[in-house]
Amino acid sequence: MIRNQDILILALVLLIFFVNLGLFVVCLKNKAIRKYFIGSIIISLIVGLFIVSNNFSRITYWIDKYRIENNATQTSSSNKSCSCTNKTLHFQRDSYSGKHRPIAKKVTGGRFIEDKAKLQEYLEEKQLVTISDRKGYHIQSLGHSSKHLTPSAKQRLEELGSLFRENLKGTPDAKSYFLISSVTRTEAQQCKIRKAYPSSATRQKSTHSYGVSVDISRVMYKKSCKNSLKALEKAIDQMQGEDKLLICPEKTCIHLTFI
Ligand SMILES: [Zn+2]
Repeated sequence: MIRNQDILILALVLLIFFVNLGLFVVCLKNKAIRKYFIGSIIISLIVGLFIVSNNFSRITYWIDKYRIENNATQTSSSNKSCSCTNKTLHFQRDSYSGKHRPIAKKVTGGRFIEDKAKLQEYLEEKQLVTISDRKGYHIQSLGHSSKHLTPSAKQRLEELGSLFRENLKGTPDAKSYFLISSVTRTEAQQCKIRKAYPSSATRQKSTHSYGVSVDISRVMYKKSCKNSLKALEKAIDQMQGEDKLLICPEKTCIHLTFI
């Protein structure tokens, strides 16, 4: 998924490249300005390092994505992703009304995200933080939700990504990752989903509006869908057993609530 941020970074990199190239060419004719060229190279390296360190997770995601897709075109034309649903993954379901909702309410101290203003307030108070791609998962372009979770839910999600990768270590699917299709929704966003998909969104308060839930829709894999799904199943299962998350398998995704 290309984002505005990626385009800006690419534009910046190209600008730096052409400025240096220009200086280099002038340098060949006029040796007196060589010091400016060296200065420019040093500044460019510092800016480059800054870009890489700030976008490390994005860069590793692009590399993984390239590897998987490149390999997919080389070996077969089949789609290298498989869906995560109540049909493809088998879990012990936790009751939505009996566990997901009351526990989401409890662990957040009842901080319900009614609207954008509340979302902003919780972000300023650091009750919610921004999440991004990390080892083992990628957040899709989100239509009706935003990339925010509570700090502890964020930590759990990172743990899930690491566990998933650990389960695939040493296999051809070591670089597989799962896709997150929905994260935190304000009540207004939840209403829009209710209207668009009457059967899929809960009528009552959603755990997505507490900032502790994500939906996992697919797994991107290199060689084996089955092995990648198994690795995800095992990781989720383990964390459920450790009381770190609750599971609600759905028709189009796996809904998780982090505890
Ligand atoms: Zn959900």
